[in-house]
Amino acid sequence: MSKSVLGILAHVDAGKTTLSEALLYTAGSIRSFGRVDRGESFLDGEEIERARGVTVFSKQARLSWMDREIVFLDTPGHVDFSPEAERTLSVLDYAILVVSAPDGVQSHTRTLMRLLSKYEIPTFIFVNKMDLTERSAGDVLGELRENLCPEAVELPTAADMLSSENTKDEDIEEIAGHDEALIEEYLENGALFSDSIRQSISCRRLFPVYFGSALHNEGVKELLDGVVNWSMLPEAFDEFGARVYKIGWDKKGERLTHIRLTGGSIRPKDTIGTEKVQGIRLYEGEKFEAVDGADAVDICTLLGLQETYPGQGLGFEKDAPVPELSPVLSYQVIPPKGVTTGKLFETLQVLNEEEPTFGIAVNENTGDIMVRLMGPFQLEVLQQEIKRRFGILVTFGPGKILYKETIASTVEGVGHFEPLRHYAEAHLLLEPGEPGSGIETANACSVDVLSVNYQKQIISVLERTHHKGVLTGSPLTDVKITLLSGKSHTKHTEGGDFSQATRRAVRQGLMKAESVLLEPVFDLELRVPGSMVGRAMTDLERMHGSIEPPEIEGDYALLRGRVPVACITDYAKDVASYTGGLGELTLDPGGYEPCHNAEEIIENRGYDPESDMRNPTGSVFCAQGAGYVVPWYEVEEMMHLPSALDGTDDNEDSDEALQKMALARAEAAKRSASATDVSGFRGYSGMEKDLENIFVREFGEIKSSLNNRDVGKKERDYDDPAKRQERLRAAREEYKATHSSASPKTPAKSLPKYTIIDGYNVIFADSELKGLANDDLHAARTRLLDIVADYQGYVGDTVIVVFDAWRKKGGTGSSERYGNLYVEFTKEAQTADAYIERAVHQLMPGAHITVVTSDAAEQVIVSGSGAYRMSSREFFEEIKRIKSQ
Ligand code: GDP
Ligand code: MG
Repeated sequence: MSKSVLGILAHVDAGKTTLSEALLYTAGSIRSFGRVDRGESFLDGEEIERARGVTVFSKQARLSWMDREIVFLDTPGHVDFSPEAERTLSVLDYAILVVSAPDGVQSHTRTLMRLLSKYEIPTFIFVNKMDLTERSAGDVLGELRENLCPEAVELPTAADMLSSENTKDEDIEEIAGHDEALIEEYLENGALFSDSIRQSISCRRLFPVYFGSALHNEGVKELLDGVVNWSMLPEAFDEFGARVYKIGWDKKGERLTHIRLTGGSIRPKDTIGTEKVQGIRLYEGEKFEAVDGADAVDICTLLGLQETYPGQGLGFEKDAPVPELSPVLSYQVIPPKGVTTGKLFETLQVLNEEEPTFGIAVNENTGDIMVRLMGPFQLEVLQQEIKRRFGILVTFGPGKILYKETIASTVEGVGHFEPLRHYAEAHLLLEPGEPGSGIETANACSVDVLSVNYQKQIISVLERTHHKGVLTGSPLTDVKITLLSGKSHTKHTEGGDFSQATRRAVRQGLMKAESVLLEPVFDLELRVPGSMVGRAMTDLERMHGSIEPPEIEGDYALLRGRVPVACITDYAKDVASYTGGLGELTLDPGGYEPCHNAEEIIENRGYDPESDMRNPTGSVFCAQGAGYVVPWYEVEEMMHLPSALDGTDDNEDSDEALQKMALARAEAAKRSASATDVSGFRGYSGMEKDLENIFVREFGEIKSSLNNRDVGKKERDYDDPAKRQERLRAAREEYKATHSSASPKTPAKSLPKYTIIDGYNVIFADSELKGLANDDLHAARTRLLDIVADYQGYVGDTVIVVFDAWRKKGGTGSSERYGNLYVEFTKEAQTADAYIERAVHQLMPGAHITVVTSDAAEQVIVSGSGAYRMSSREFFEEIKRIKSQ
């Protein structure tokens, strides 16, 4: 029997569950008809759903009608749970969109239609609850065409179609009018073929509409006939392929991987990745049947797999796109008395696997458990779900907005990475993208410039990286990034080099571009009694909403608009109280818009992009046998490839411009000799990563409160090329001067001598200390201090060891003595670099200062200031030398 997979989508309460039951009942799959309002529904098994009458977790059901087996996936109804709904969409052949006749087209109905369009799912519309409205089918159809979908049509019933394959009718003209291809066919033949209509439906050029009442089982059989008659069978490929649309657990705690097969078949003992399938089930509601295999294009559930995840593609299938409806709020999950955060976190991991967009994580900074949600509604559902499954009654802290960033200008971003025996350079074009488009990548790089293999690496880095904006460190979105050119070195380019160069290029571009802070907004519909519309409009204005003029519907006024999520969180309660329960507020995710209070947010975050070690903005170059960091505002002069934007008119058509650029670059690259002097960068590779890991463990995620924005800024004169070049030259000279002799210089006798040590950098440059740090950071610090104390005994300098503690929230910094040493822990929002830079500044001139570090940024700052720099490696060699003497 031929199979297809259908989903039913609806605004909450439109009657989705009731319709599912009616379909099953009509097809004889169930004998009695459960009533949602009596808590008897077959599909809404979960207790919470029964209690609320809301479908939250998706179920499946099967029925046979004529020669067709249909697998129904009951998609989650409330918009707050839509990431899961979206994933379910990606495995559907067709959808039935339920519209409630009395309510008409609601904003959520349009959201669902938009999603169906994004996933290109052909859609049947069922107008439900016709028993509750005075309106005629024609009226409702008119509204659908106006507000939801102009191509909505009533098709002849299956019975009509059976009587003649080619139907001639005035109605046919009406149908043909919606699709060019059909018009042509009709003009040519004076008739339409059923297959052409099927084709139009499957391409979403026609949307058949049915009317009825699910509760009274009216119009349901006609809907079934229509769906079977007017849908095409999905293609089943021979090669194995499947999509994971959901992860769940059964009552015994067995992990369930729900998949849709798109090709081939699957049997128990087949392997997926490195794991073996231990069993296969076909689910119906809560019940299941164990089977010894499933074939394309069925829906089935695999047992025994631990590493699968929602949205995953198996076999030839690729992973599904990231859900469009991403969470916009972050809440702290507070355990009840007697439950530790650690225990609770462990427990909640299960939910994370089911719904990765929850992003349940511990903020290591504060120790709090955080969860990401679509909106406040989800709180209650999540609370009950946690209570029901784990017996823990949690509460939540106030919601925090998840901001994003984008750009408003087009720039070229460049990155270069060339420590000892490494080499990579990348040039990228960053352009503002469409709202909601996320990060898009393109490639305009010629293979004459850079081999395909490296090009692929760059594109893959662009796609994989969670790029961070430079205003607040929030995720970057809606940016199109095009690879313009890049350069490799035949000998020195290694695995991660292009990743380094690419990420630096993105960040360099962002520093130059005009950045825009984005905040999530809701699409809002507010229905209030007419007399209260003034109050409602004033409220929405105060909440920075953008509102259309009110529409009057009898005694009621309807307001539509968009309003920042940050401003409206508790407004539903206000509406209920000032309208005495008559008002109705509907909020749907409306994507992201420029933030209404961007300055305030940026100020509060105090993010300093140049101190964000994990997302460097500068590049690493090599001179005189050593690598060093060049800040973002000076890198362009030093790039080995010419700027891709040089000599092109900004207004030129972008495709053409890109092509020209690519050609110009190919020429330039051929001219510039590929031989590059690469040598002598010490202890850099791999260190960043280790530091990151330790920092994250010790102090939590990179956090927002870096306030030392003046670091680097005071010297930023990006717009003045002459000055830039001048300073660059000076920096190079200085750099050469300090690096031309291998050992630290002998200072003038009269000056007091200081040695300032960047503690963590030194720890991570030494394999023994690093190993120790991985187990116990405190022990590693003590060990380092002992070594340094020894050293101080020999050299007699004033020795300051600085430990970076800027991520420590509320850290006020501290100064301690450790024997003969000064030990400094930086305060919150102060990096060790910043501390050292300031110290050097204060002590100079009039002191002989040696800074021990391997951090390339410090090397540059410090050598520009007249202090001496010793790498961590040199420092250890020096200690060895002293000891052996
Ligand atoms: P869902 O939230 O979309 O799954 O909606 P339900 O199927 O739970 O239905 C919501 C409410 O509307 C329930 O009380 C149903 O009994 C009622 N309902 C569903 N379909 C109809 C219908 O065709 N006519 C009437 N009068 N009520 C209906
Ligand atoms: Mg339901």
